[in-house]
Amino acid sequence: MRAVKLTSPGTLEMVEVEKPEPGPGEVRVKVAGAGLCHSDLHILHLPVPWPGPDPTLGHEGAGWIDAVGPDVTGLDIGSAVLVNLIWSCGQCRPCILGRDNACISGGRYMYPPTPGLGPDGAMAEYMIVPARHAMPLGKLDPVSAGPLADAALTPMRAISSARDWLTPGSTAVVIGVGGLGHMAVQILAASTGARIIAVDMADDKLALARKHGADLVLKSDAAAAAILAESDGYGADAVFDFVGVQQTVDLARGVVAPEGALRLVGLGGGKIDLGAEANTGVIPWGVDIRKSYGGTRADLIEVIALAAQGKLTVEHTLYPLADFQRAFDDLEAGAIAGRAILTP
Ligand code: NAD
Ligand code: ZN
Repeated sequence: MRAVKLTSPGTLEMVEVEKPEPGPGEVRVKVAGAGLCHSDLHILHLPVPWPGPDPTLGHEGAGWIDAVGPDVTGLDIGSAVLVNLIWSCGQCRPCILGRDNACISGGRYMYPPTPGLGPDGAMAEYMIVPARHAMPLGKLDPVSAGPLADAALTPMRAISSARDWLTPGSTAVVIGVGGLGHMAVQILAASTGARIIAVDMADDKLALARKHGADLVLKSDAAAAAILAESDGYGADAVFDFVGVQQTVDLARGVVAPEGALRLVGLGGGKIDLGAEANTGVIPWGVDIRKSYGGTRADLIEVIALAAQGKLTVEHTLYPLADFQRAFDDLEAGAIAGRAILTP
């Protein structure tokens, strides 16, 4: 079968590999669609070779159950499934407490096993998935559902961790209306009472935010003053940064209200110079900051439920798997509205 692998820093290749067989506790999924995440670009641009075998990329997969391992029950051949992003063990203390995005299998400094970031991912014709992490999609179309596994799951966790702030009358700011951000706008609109302000540097992304429920859209360079002006200089209750470069981190800390919630999701390398000091110029008193990673199984079930209700839609462009390079180039150029999805 065909698979898209990272073969050296900066190089992706389509290679021919053996069709994999599911072992005990595993299923084989015939991939219907694999979303491209900006994280795939970060991986592609790592300056050093990937540790271990060349990975098949793709951590946003969905498809149909194609074969099951000897002891697997309850998953019917041909049924549509979403491949969970986070292959948590389900048995450690964080997992049992519902924090499976911080499963102990990831250790202190890494993340739990993730398809496409070690185990072979979804940019292939078939993939092997632990049966526990093949999440039933019901009637949802697996061709376009893959991005729910990350582009929706990750904002769901960031938003759910800030629900105490997102009461009716509150203001939420979404920075970066790409794959994750356009889902964040929809999740906020569908599940909170917040007024939604979306920020991006591209007009077409702001139009997408409007379409999906943003109340106000702002270009990034003018956003700080406008957001503060909206709140008599006080700031927004919750700020979600889906870019994470220095400009957006500065915007986020500069507009979050005292005692507000700040969620850093984008991995652009921006920093906050947070000191144990009385200076509130860097960040106001009481701000609750989280570097948010992925989401939990409960979050994923909520994501699938919202999608099934028609309240969460993946804007997407389909590319044949063979055109993977064009899809990566388009993502890099900022030319994708929502998500690019590869279809084998
Ligand atoms: P994307 O490329 O689809 O979207 C990025 C968006 O940000 C685009 O709309 C772009 O126009 C906008 N943007 C870029 N620079 C900007 C700026 N200075 N001001 C305002 N908007 C700006 O990316 P994505 O797939 O949505 O991923 C976003 C980030 O989240 C990436 O860094 C990715 O690696 C990261 N990520 C983190 C997690 C996590 O668990 N923490 C999970 C998935 C992705
Ligand atoms: Zn991702």
